[in-house]
Amino acid sequence: MRFAIGDATVDVIVDDDDFGLPLSEFLPGYDRGLIEAHRDVLEPVFIDLARDIAKHAIQSFVIRAGGRTLLIDACIGEHKDIPEIPAWHRRCGSGFLDRLRASGVDPGDIDLVFCTHLHVDHVGWNTRQDNGRWAPTFPNARYLFGRRELADWMTQHDAGRAPPIHARALEQSVIPIVEAGRVDLVDDGHELGPGLRLVPLPGHTSGQMGLRIDYAQHRAIFCGDAVHNPVQIFQPDLSTSSCTDPQLARETRVKILAEAADSGRLVIPAHFRGARCAHIRPDGGGFAPVFDTVPR
Ligand SMILES: [Zn+2]
Repeated sequence: MRFAIGDATVDVIVDDDDFGLPLSEFLPGYDRGLIEAHRDVLEPVFIDLARDIAKHAIQSFVIRAGGRTLLIDACIGEHKDIPEIPAWHRRCGSGFLDRLRASGVDPGDIDLVFCTHLHVDHVGWNTRQDNGRWAPTFPNARYLFGRRELADWMTQHDAGRAPPIHARALEQSVIPIVEAGRVDLVDDGHELGPGLRLVPLPGHTSGQMGLRIDYAQHRAIFCGDAVHNPVQIFQPDLSTSSCTDPQLARETRVKILAEAADSGRLVIPAHFRGARCAHIRPDGGGFAPVFDTVPR
């Protein structure tokens, strides 16, 4: 799928398009009445209420802007030890890199890889197996990691406090990139080019960042996991059970949605299926998604 933000083109490269989580465990405290009221928008793409499933995609966004090619979030990868999620554990033959090439982008064409945060489903394709070692998948890319995000995870990792699933992701998909000298640590406000700026989105993890695009007529934000599922647009105070700081995640989400509703900014979360992105309009005490972006 391809869409445009002004002169920039965005290709969606999907790594897993049907990753389900128990709705009541992943979004504890969801308002069933609110979901039922918006069931026509949410089903069948984003939830299965009867089966208690929240449905997500794991995907990368490849942005071509200003002569450069940027990949946002590196999904699951292959051959990774992820025993907690059997479908991802040591998997191969995913076709991810073939789908990337089909969009007209070879791994060698990627100039920048930006991980919004360092969870297991955002770093996997940073590396690939090469004779028993983890090598950068994108041989010509600089990898952008948030300075605070990496420091926080390394502190947890070195103290043995990181959850095993994320500790292994660091060892297989992040630390090898650091050791290969391919990382540029970035701070809030970092500019990737004209109109492209990294912004802080704390709460889901302590150092999560997003990419904001501000062109004269077109605005967008790649907001990582600040919003996981459109349920959280209708109910913006609803944080996930995987958020480090649910209260801060809530504040960040409300800010993003309010600003997007005000400014017409397109919101592009990491895990939306369907249209992959949404415009936002106010709706009662919360907001509602407008899935009006026509793929081309
Ligand atoms: Zn995620």
